[in-house]
Amino acid sequence: MNAYDNALRQLEKAAKLIDLDKDVVARLSTPERTVMASLPIKMDDGSLKIFEAYRVQYNSARGPYKGGIRFHPQVDLDEVKALSFWMAIKTAVANIPMGGGKGGILVDPKAMSEAEIQRLSRAWIKAFKDVIGPEKDIPAPDVYTTPQIMCWMADEYSNLVGKKQWGVVTGKPLDFGGSKGRDTATAMGGFYVLQEAINELDLKASKLKVAIQGFGNAGSVAAKLLYDAGYKVVALADSRVIIFDKKGFDVDKVIEHKEKIKTLAGFKGSKEIDIKEFFALDVDVLVPAALENQITKSNASDIKAKIILELANGPTTPEADEILFENNVMVIPDVLANAGGVTVSYFEWIQNNENNYWSDKEVDDELKERMIPAWQSVLKNSKEYKIDLRTAAFVTALKRLAEAIKVQH
Ligand code: GLU
Repeated sequence: MNAYDNALRQLEKAAKLIDLDKDVVARLSTPERTVMASLPIKMDDGSLKIFEAYRVQYNSARGPYKGGIRFHPQVDLDEVKALSFWMAIKTAVANIPMGGGKGGILVDPKAMSEAEIQRLSRAWIKAFKDVIGPEKDIPAPDVYTTPQIMCWMADEYSNLVGKKQWGVVTGKPLDFGGSKGRDTATAMGGFYVLQEAINELDLKASKLKVAIQGFGNAGSVAAKLLYDAGYKVVALADSRVIIFDKKGFDVDKVIEHKEKIKTLAGFKGSKEIDIKEFFALDVDVLVPAALENQITKSNASDIKAKIILELANGPTTPEADEILFENNVMVIPDVLANAGGVTVSYFEWIQNNENNYWSDKEVDDELKERMIPAWQSVLKNSKEYKIDLRTAAFVTALKRLAEAIKVQH
């Protein structure tokens, strides 16, 4: 299961449906630029380690490249290409004037000290400083990268170019050029879209059972938001365990437990289940908020949820998509469901450029103003063409990208 193959299949399906100009398809079938580097890092014990690093600049027809940097032991070029392509689609779905890019380092950051991670983060910037910049390509956090890492990166870039360049990365800490609401934006954007979907299906939040895979920035914040809104969160998973409680978790207590002992394992009253059981749970909403290729042809038909809210990027394979569509499961695709993150990143970049900072309410209102119309245009396309929401989101994005590509010729 290669994520980039999946991404290209999604493109092909939507392009065919709207008979997209073949030159536009060609432009979108390959990244504009791929940059690779080896980062030599002095480890705390004095040894030297070399890390593979990437930046893929997929498409800039609608604005500067935009997208996160992932630190993960599974990173490879095809994964980064897929993720950067999805960013180009996502920024177009959210209708923000940005393109798509993504970066990564093949590393297990959990096995490194803070000082080593700082050296690695600064080394990434040194290696890619000529291709990034506030008007060229603006990285951000992704899996296992944090506001602290963004701070080191912005600082390194500013030192290298000899001036403060806050706008070179987003997702920075609040007292280092960050935006209010950026830390909760991915989950919040997904939450707004989910509320719309529930209304569309005539469901009531207070009666709905939820299972969430992933307890990082997206998954843990989503758990809290859904819990506070009256959903019953019955299953939660981090990278090590899956916990289940049919009565529903007190999510505040789970967050406390995770902060204290760094794992969900052993949470009072919960039982551990395996991944097969997790996807087959009798829930209404399933939220994949971890990695790619989780929902596949081998588990898609077990899924009982009515709605899948993809806070992760690429969690569902094209084969699984077909099974879910057949079974009437509404899949709210990544390029819409998690677009709140990059949307507030864009707000952060505007604030950096203007050197003027917004209140929580301003960020939240603006986020809603982007997410709801994005949902509406995707829903409209899905009804018009009688297609699943992913293909509809691609149709929305491809039409916008095609306009931008065509006027430039
Ligand atoms: N990594 C996030 C994503 O996949 C956020 C990207 C950004 O803020 O630029 O959408």
